[in-house]
Amino acid sequence: MKTERLYYSDAYRTTFEGRVVACVARSAPAAGIPASYAVELAASAFYPTSGGQPFDTGTLGDARVQDVIDEDDGRVLHVTDRALEPGSVVTGTIDWARRFDHMQQHTGQHVLSAAFDRLFSNRTESFHLGAESCSIDLAREVSAADVARAVDEANRIVWEDRPVSVRFVSEQEAAALPLRKEPARGGTLRVIEVADFDLSACGGTHVARTGGIGIIAASGWEKFRGGSRLHFLCGGRVRRRFDLWRDALAATVKHLSLTPEELAEGIERLQGENKALQRALRAAQEKLAGYEARALVDRGTRVGSRLVIVEAVADLDAAGLKAMAAAAASEPGAAVALFSATSPALAVVARHANAGVDAGAVLKALVGQFGGKGGGRPDLAQGGGLQGDSAALVTAARELLSQ
Ligand SMILES: [Zn+2]
Repeated sequence: MKTERLYYSDAYRTTFEGRVVACVARSAPAAGIPASYAVELAASAFYPTSGGQPFDTGTLGDARVQDVIDEDDGRVLHVTDRALEPGSVVTGTIDWARRFDHMQQHTGQHVLSAAFDRLFSNRTESFHLGAESCSIDLAREVSAADVARAVDEANRIVWEDRPVSVRFVSEQEAAALPLRKEPARGGTLRVIEVADFDLSACGGTHVARTGGIGIIAASGWEKFRGGSRLHFLCGGRVRRRFDLWRDALAATVKHLSLTPEELAEGIERLQGENKALQRALRAAQEKLAGYEARALVDRGTRVGSRLVIVEAVADLDAAGLKAMAAAAASEPGAAVALFSATSPALAVVARHANAGVDAGAVLKALVGQFGGKGGGRPDLAQGGGLQGDSAALVTAARELLSQ
């Protein structure tokens, strides 16, 4: 039996009485997952997921409605957490905040799509209403100027507070109407009219006047399948996004001592300064590594003809550690292992060509013993994420390089 859809004629109805036609268990309770039931009512104000708009949530008696499904045969199935007695009459209550948000986004979409269509003959191919963002896919690419004009035009319609009406027409009547898009199905059609602006066949829920949309804003767009995907927000979502961006912007400009208008240029300048500092630091580290390497060589231990140098070094990053190990390994006979004095530790193994040691194999052995990852060549290998204190790492490396 087809469910009578109360939202078709009144999208503002939040409570209703519905007779339970059937209630079927969908799944038995399992570990951590409660049971769920599919409830069919004679009439319902719950909107089922369809046409790009998500379902309503709310309650049926004591049961919570977790999903609402649009069946091909015209029935609306309510997925609930409790069984309801067939034949009984239950009070249904729609979660209005969620429903109204969907009404604002959905009606805003009609107006925005119509604006692109009227101004640029750029058709909307599809619409997506998500929990976080909404988007329309337009047939052709858009420019920033197009988007600004279409959003301006759409908001003009919003602020003129035009009536949004619903009527049902036959297939023959529909054929004579200037619908924005070819209807996807035949039979009786539900037509939504934004006065003197848009005429669309649609089964969704809409505000009664465009003023209810509040405001329409485009948050971004990109090329998509030969056309463009435009992300937008309406009404309450614009207000919440404004608060989010206001706080983010306030925190950012406070840290950088810039006005919002100076932000992009200021960040670019800071990035440039940061790169210059990194280059200067690298040069200084390399210079320092040369001096430190001299001291390391002096503290090395002779094992036969090999000079074994193993230490944990504070305050050096991976590049600094590598530069120092490479500098120490220029000493004839040197076999070097350096660690950062952090946990987990960075490791660099290097050797002079005549030291008779495979740096890659030594690093592999260290990683095998202490975890982490890394690799390299026989003359130089690097790794990171080694778990173990500096003393244990130094002892193990000394042993490996003395073999
Ligand atoms: Zn619609």
